This record gives sequence, C-alpha cells and structure tokens, in this order.
Amino acid sequence: MNEQSTREIWKAVLGELQLQLPRPTFETWLKQTDGVSYDEHQFIVEAPTPFAVAWLERRMYNAIQKTVEKVTERPLEVLFRVKQGQEAQDVSVSLTGQATGLESDESGQDRDEALVKPPAQPASAFNPKYTFDTFVVGPSNQLAYSAAKAVADSPGKSYNPLFIYSGVGLGKTHLLHAIGHTASSHGLTVRYVTSEQFTNDFITSIGNRTTEAFRQRYRSVEVLLLDDVQFMSGKEQTHESFFHTFNDLHNSGHQVVITSDRPPKALAMLQDRLRSRFEWGLLADMQPPDLETRMAILLSKARNLGVRVGESVIELIAKRVHKNVRELEGCLNRMIAQADLMSTPITVQSAARILEEMTADNDRHAIDPERILEAVASHFRVSTEALLARGRTQKIAQARQVAMYLLINELEMTPTQVGRFLGGRDHATVIHGAGKINGEINEDTILRRDVLSIKESIFA
Ligand code: ADP
Ligand code: MG
Repeated sequence: MNEQSTREIWKAVLGELQLQLPRPTFETWLKQTDGVSYDEHQFIVEAPTPFAVAWLERRMYNAIQKTVEKVTERPLEVLFRVKQGQEAQDVSVSLTGQATGLESDESGQDRDEALVKPPAQPASAFNPKYTFDTFVVGPSNQLAYSAAKAVADSPGKSYNPLFIYSGVGLGKTHLLHAIGHTASSHGLTVRYVTSEQFTNDFITSIGNRTTEAFRQRYRSVEVLLLDDVQFMSGKEQTHESFFHTFNDLHNSGHQVVITSDRPPKALAMLQDRLRSRFEWGLLADMQPPDLETRMAILLSKARNLGVRVGESVIELIAKRVHKNVRELEGCLNRMIAQADLMSTPITVQSAARILEEMTADNDRHAIDPERILEAVASHFRVSTEALLARGRTQKIAQARQVAMYLLINELEMTPTQVGRFLGGRDHATVIHGAGKINGEINEDTILRRDVLSIKESIFA
C-alpha cells in the first residue's frame, strides 16, 4: 500500500535505533528482528523468541514506535510477534470464525445466521495491558473514562454511540481495549477493528462477492469498537457500508464505540449523514493530562513493570513531557532500560541526563516564535504576513490571538515581547488577545482542538 517496502522501512528504523541505543542492547534485541508488514494503523515486527517479544514490548516499545512514526510519517502502532511460518496471522484481522469455544448466546437463531455469526473476539485479542484498572483517571479524561465504563457494563443502554476523540497517545485505543475486555468477559460478542481493517475487510468482501456475509458478520456483533475513524475519510463505498452496519447495530440496541483524532464536525470528508449519526450519542474528548495525572500515570507504569522509581524522578519526567502519554511512557522505559543495562539505580541525575539526551534529539527542531507563527498561520490557512499586519478579518484576528496565547504559554514570552514580535503591537492588545483565548478555550471545543492540533504540529 505504500511505495516504501516494509523491509526498507524497517531497515531505516533499525539504522536510527542503532544510533540511539547502546550497542549491546541493539545487538541483543534488535538485530534479529524483521519488519513484516504494515497498514495505516500498525506496523508488525517479528522477533525470534517470545522472550525477545516481551522484552521489546516492555522496554523498547516507545523508542521503536517513535522511530517507525518518524520514518513512515504516520502515527502507527507497533505490534511485536514471534517469528513463525506462514500461519502467523494477526488475530484482530481474522473475521472468518474459527471456533473459540464460546457458545452462541442466541441458541434459537437459524442455521444460516449461526454460520455467519462471528466468534466473540477472545480476550486475548485485546491488549492485556489496556484495561480499566491500568487507566489512570484525571480531570482531562474523566468523562471519556466514565462513559467507556458505563458502555462496557451495559452496552447499548447508556450512550450509543459513544464517540471518543483526542490527540495521539492520549488513551483512545487503551479505552477501546478496556471496553473489549470487560464486555467480552460478560460473554458478549465484541469486535475491535480499526477503520482501516474495516475498509480492507469490506473491499475484500466485494472482491470475493461476499458482501452479504460481510454485513451479516458485522451486524450480529453486540459491541463494535471502531478505532481511528478519521482514516475512513473519503472512501465512499466504505462509508455507505458503515452507515448500514451502524444503523443495523443501533436499531437492534447493539453498542457502537468510535474513536477519532477530532470531533465528528471536523471529519471533513465524512458524509453528512454518517457524521450526524456519530453525534446521536455521547461525544467525549480527552485532553493531555495535567501534572498530577502525569505523575500518577508514571507511578502506575513503574509499578506495573515492577520497578522502583523515586518520586523526584517521576516529577522530573512529568514536568518535562506533557503532550502525550505514549511519550511519557517512552521516557520512563528508556530510563529503566539504561538502569538495567548499567545495573545502577535511576537517580535524578541520570534521569536528567537521559531527558537531556532525548530533548537534544528534539532540539533539531527547537521551538522558536517563528515556528509558532508558521504553525498558526498554516493551521488557519492565512499568511504569516497577515498575522503581523494590521488587517483584522475575524479569521485573522482569531488566528493572531491564538498566536499570542501560544507565544505566552509555550515560550513564556512577556506580552511586551509578543507585541513587538507580532508587528509592533501594544502589550495591552496582547494581554487582551491571549486572555480571550484563555477564557474561551474551556468552553469552545473547536477552538480547543485548533490549539491542540497546532501544539501537536509544533512539538511533533
Ligand atoms: P491513542 O489511541 O489515543 O493514540 P493509546 O491508547 O495508544 O493512545 O495510548 C498510548 C499509550 O499511553 C498506551 O500505552 C496507553 O496505555 C497509555 N495511556 C494513555 N492514557 C493513559 C492513562 N490515562 N492511564 C494510563 N495509561 C495511559
Ligand atoms: Mg490509537
């Protein structure tokens, strides 16, 4: 699906990792890995032994994921598995049912339907690390968490559909898997698919002339978890098919949970009627966690790994890394790996040094006021000149205020400095402008998403 072959990508990733990692780590754990395939959602890597897979997952996930993301320029998850023969299969893609040992709970149904009823996705299809118990709740994700729990406990009864959206690495996939664990433990037929897998499955069914079977398969699922719906954008036939699937499920009181990196309104390519369906239920967004929640997440991750990390180290990491939980975990894992390798405890000093190294990496694109100005301009599709000039159409005025807000909050510039930078404006104008955004950001979801996505582009 891409001009770059999987092998080439993986070679590039290994090249980068070789530079980042101590040689023994690289030689022991990475040298014998292969990149085997990828789609828009995940990149699959094979390692020689289950032990190596576990180690890579536990210790290297973030470094590898980040590098894959960098090389492919896509937000891919990484899936590790043991090298094996041709039978190796991604369980979450295989929809045609092999026996799972779970009996059908609709014993009265006719034979044909029984044949197409999908097996409940076995609990093993869900990432064991992604449960409600391991999800740390704070003000930034409370609503999404509670809604996900309600849905898992009584599917189809509370919020249907549940639509969760947030920036990358803030726990959407985690919550979907948590719902999957809980609902399937209640004996329900649950299916987790990325919108990419859904699309592929649908296209395959057209090719095989099995669209009816495809429909039956999906419509009998009791809980459908659709991850990253933004990737479904623009594929008309797939929309059509999803629209029908959605209606079928919804009409029969089955639960649908959807995630996306933006709210339905901002899914530009989505058909209107599908978008309005998504808005029927509950929309819950998640923001980057505050400092306290970040510390709680780190403590919990360290505990789960069975590693003792001092509170001052936790605080140090939490203060430095704030936009994305995946990265937060990445830092922690890197420290643990280093400490492991050197057989030394993690101290504030060693942690600071590692953070230094990691940020040195980011310094290549250090943030300066120009970068913020460009990011704002490109997001609002206006020119940087327009932001510096006097003109004030509403769009430009708002973009300029967002720039003021970001320059003050992200770069800690004073209003006077910001005013000077933005074409010689008065500091009172800057205080007013930044204050306006500051006040509106909590109420105005679209503005919040705007700011968030600009921040993401700045820090990416
Ligand atoms: P998304 O799907 O939104 O990009 P993920 O669900 O993949 O994000 O989360 C990225 C990583 O961060 C995962 O390892 C996940 O377990 C972790 N994570 C995110 N939010 C939380 C949270 N509130 N508590 C614990 N772990 C979290
Ligand atoms: Mg995800």
